[in-house]
Amino acid sequence: MADTGWDTDVVVAGAGPTGLMLACELRLAGVDVTLVDRLAQRTGESRAGGMHCRTLEVLDQRGVLDRFLAAGDLTPVGHFSGLMLDFDGLESRHPLPLMILQSAVERLLEEWAEELGVRVRWSSEVAGVRQDDDGVSAELRTAEAAPALLRARYLVGCDGGRSTVRRLSGIAFPGTPATMTALIGDVELPDLPEDYIWARRCATGDYSAISFEPGWYRVITSDYDRVADRDEPATFEQLRRSLIRLAGTDYGMRNPRWISRFGDAARQADRYRAGRVLLAGDAAHIHFPAGGQGLNTGVQDAVNLGWKLASVVRGRAPESLLDSYHAERHPVGERVLQNTRAQAALTRPGAQTDALRDVFGSLLVFDDVNRQLRDMLTALDVRYPVDGGHPLAGRRVPDAGLKAPDGVTRVHELLHAARPVLLDLRGSTTLGTAVAGWADRVDLVEARCEDGHWAVPSRGEIPAPAAVLVRPDGHVAWAADGDRTPDTTALRTALTTWFGPARQR
Ligand SMILES: Cc1cc2nc3c(=O)[nH]c(=O)nc-3n(C[C@H](O)[C@H](O)[C@H](O)COP(=O)(O)OP(=O)(O)OC[C@H]3O[C@@H](n4cnc5c(N)ncnc54)[C@H](O)[C@@H]3O)c2cc1C
Repeated sequence: MADTGWDTDVVVAGAGPTGLMLACELRLAGVDVTLVDRLAQRTGESRAGGMHCRTLEVLDQRGVLDRFLAAGDLTPVGHFSGLMLDFDGLESRHPLPLMILQSAVERLLEEWAEELGVRVRWSSEVAGVRQDDDGVSAELRTAEAAPALLRARYLVGCDGGRSTVRRLSGIAFPGTPATMTALIGDVELPDLPEDYIWARRCATGDYSAISFEPGWYRVITSDYDRVADRDEPATFEQLRRSLIRLAGTDYGMRNPRWISRFGDAARQADRYRAGRVLLAGDAAHIHFPAGGQGLNTGVQDAVNLGWKLASVVRGRAPESLLDSYHAERHPVGERVLQNTRAQAALTRPGAQTDALRDVFGSLLVFDDVNRQLRDMLTALDVRYPVDGGHPLAGRRVPDAGLKAPDGVTRVHELLHAARPVLLDLRGSTTLGTAVAGWADRVDLVEARCEDGHWAVPSRGEIPAPAAVLVRPDGHVAWAADGDRTPDTTALRTALTTWFGPARQR
C-alpha cells in the first residue's frame, strides 16, 4: 500500500473500554474510525468490577446508560483504601456506584460501537508507528505473513499500561515503581464460611473474597514482602498459596476462570499528545487499582478527546484544540495517581498503618470529609481550566430538569448526539444572533427550567443560569446569570475557542 492518502480518519489502537468509548465518540461525530486490537478475541477477563457516577452520567449523556444498569447492581457504598464511604447524596441523578464486570462493560460498548458502524480489526497489533506532516502510518502485525500498513490522519494509543504506541512515539512514562504484588482470580470457594471477606488485614498483607456472581468469588491477595517480575505468569497455585499464607486456608479454592497480577506502580505519560499521536486510558496512566478509578478515568479521557479530535479531523477547529486534551486530562490523571498512592500507603501492613487507618477512618464520619473523597473518586468535582468567571465554567453541567422541545426533560438528554448545545433558559433575543455563525455545529435550544437553583458538586447550590454553552463532553464552556444581559462577546470567544471560527455567510 502506498504511503499516501488515508485509509481511515483515525486509527484507535486497543479495543478495551477506553478505545471502544473513543471509537463511539468519533463515530457519533461522523468520523471514520478503525479500531484495532492485537487479541484474536476477547478474553472474558474482568479486572474492573465497577463504574462510578460520572461515568454513568457520560453514558446517560449518550442515551445508552440503561443497557449498563441492566447488566449490573447499584450499591450504596464505595471505599477509600477499603474504608467505607457513603455515596448516597452525591449531586447527581446516578449517585451510586454500579457493580458491573469489565467484561460486560466491554461487551456493551462493543455492541454500541457496532451499531454506530465502527469496524474492529482483531488480531491486528500495532507494531510500528511513523508520522509526518500529513498523517500517521501504523504498521500492523496480523495473521498474514506480511505486515499491513494503515494510514490515517491521527492515531490514538488506547493500548493499555504497556502501550506500544506510547513507546514507539517516544513519550516518557515517569513515575514510581511497584513496591508490592497482588494476585487476583475468579474462583469457586466452597468452604468459605462467610458471605464475603473485605480487605482483611494480616501481618504481611491483606485479602478479599467478593462474590460477583452466585457461586463465584473474586479473590484478591496482596503481599508486601515481595515484588514480582512483571513478566512472570500468574498461576492458580500462586494465588492458592498466597491465600493460605495470609488466611491460613484456601477455602477449598477451585475452578479458576482467570488469574492475573497487579501492583502499586504509578506512572503517567509526560505528554498525552505527540503530533498526530495521542494517548488515552491506561496507556496514559497506571496506578494501584484502589477506589475503582482506572476504567472510569479512561472512559472520561475518551469523552474529552473524542469531540475535539472529530472537530479537528472534520476541519472545523484548529489542531491546537488537541492541546487542550493534555491540559485538561493530564491534571485529572495526576490526581488519580496521587490519591491511589495515598490509598496504597494506607493498605501497607503493620501497627503504624493500623493506627493511621483508625485515625483516617474516624474522620470519614464527617460529611465534609466523606464528600471531599467521594467527589474526587467519582470525578464529579473535575473542573477544567475554562475561561470565564461563572461558577459553572469548566465543570460538568448539572442534569437539571427542563421543559424543552421534542419532549426533552433534562439537560443531559440534550447531549445524546454529542453536539455542543447553547441552552437558553430565559428566551434571550440576543443569543440566536450571537450563535448564528456556528449554527452548523452548535444546537441552540430554548427551554424552561423549573429548578431555581442548580446543585454543583464541591460548590453547593447556585442560582440557575440564564444561558449555558455546553460542550459535547458535558462540560460548560460559557454561562450567564439571569440578572444580566448575556455577554455575547464572551460567548463568541468561547464558541471560537471550542468549536472553531464562525462560518462566513
Ligand atoms: C484488580 C483490578 C481491579 C480494577 N478495578 C477497577 C474498577 O473497579 N473500576 C475502574 O474504573 N477500574 C478498575 N481497574 C482498572 C481497569 O481495569 C483499567 O484501568 C482499564 O482496563 C483500562 O482500560 P483501557 O481500555 O485503557 O486499557 P486495557 O483494558 O488494558 O485495554 C487495552 C487493549 O489494547 C490492546 N492492545 C495492547 N497492545 C496493543 C497493540 N500494540 N496493538 C493493538 N492492540 C493492543 C489489548 O489487547 C487490550 O484489548 C482495575 C484494575 C485491576 C488490575
